[in-house]
Amino acid sequence: METGTGQQPPRVDERTPNIARMYDYFLGGSAHFHTDRVAAEEFLRVYPGNTLWAQHNRSFLGRAVRELCELGIDQFLDLGSGIPTVGNVHEIAHRKNPGARVAYVDIEPVAVSHAEHMLRDTELATITRADIRLPEQVLNAPGVAGLLDFTRPVAVLAVAILDIISVRDPRGMLATYREACAPGSALVITNGAQLTMTDAERAGIDQVMSGTTTPHVTFRDPEEIRELFAGYTLLEPGVVPSAAWRPAEPVTDEAARHSNGYAAVGIRSN
Ligand code: SAM
Repeated sequence: METGTGQQPPRVDERTPNIARMYDYFLGGSAHFHTDRVAAEEFLRVYPGNTLWAQHNRSFLGRAVRELCELGIDQFLDLGSGIPTVGNVHEIAHRKNPGARVAYVDIEPVAVSHAEHMLRDTELATITRADIRLPEQVLNAPGVAGLLDFTRPVAVLAVAILDIISVRDPRGMLATYREACAPGSALVITNGAQLTMTDAERAGIDQVMSGTTTPHVTFRDPEEIRELFAGYTLLEPGVVPSAAWRPAEPVTDEAARHSNGYAAVGIRSN
């Protein structure tokens, strides 16, 4: 297990609400501080559908990892991996392939320290504290470069992260990750979208998030998400609401729209 930073543990900011810890609250975890709980409860007050969003997002992540394992991909780079919770990527992947390797990356110290604890007994998964907006630093970090073999396919997971990083156009950043990966590699994206959410709910979310460490939320429509997959061929069913991406049970279009986020998986074509 490797933090990859080689630096003193970073200071935890308990006073500013943080999306990693709020997301943990939405998913029923316990790794959050008072300020996170206050912000998360306010978030749910202005947008009660967010618990469902988080569950659909997390379920999609599990299905995508399982499908990629079925395709023979056995290496994962999880960007903005979050605080460990039910269905972590290495747990899902190891059920399909006990030799799969997973490099987790997150910027938030609480997420990193919980992941360090979770991974203390495995050599097949690492956690690196890094900013995913700096792909070279991520790709060269010991926890990433020392674990993953980039001459073979790697699945890059950008799940519920592109909407909150302060990069309006992440295509350049994604291109750096893509170029580091061999043909046959995968890209997995989810991004928030206003499907059944009202304008008032959207405004409320912006207001709550403006007081957090990730103050801007960028929703994207299917066309904008397809553009993020330049150099990849989308797997069926393409860009769809998260709940509608290869669901375990049939889901109606109307139910899927309550995902309020899109999901897609692509395979690097050349
Ligand atoms: N990917 C996980 C999932 O979908 O279940 C967690 C998503 S959570 C909403 C977003 C995560 O991205 C948080 O853990 C947060 O700390 C992390 N994050 C935000 N900005 C980041 C950055 N610039 N670099 C790395 N991680 C970041």
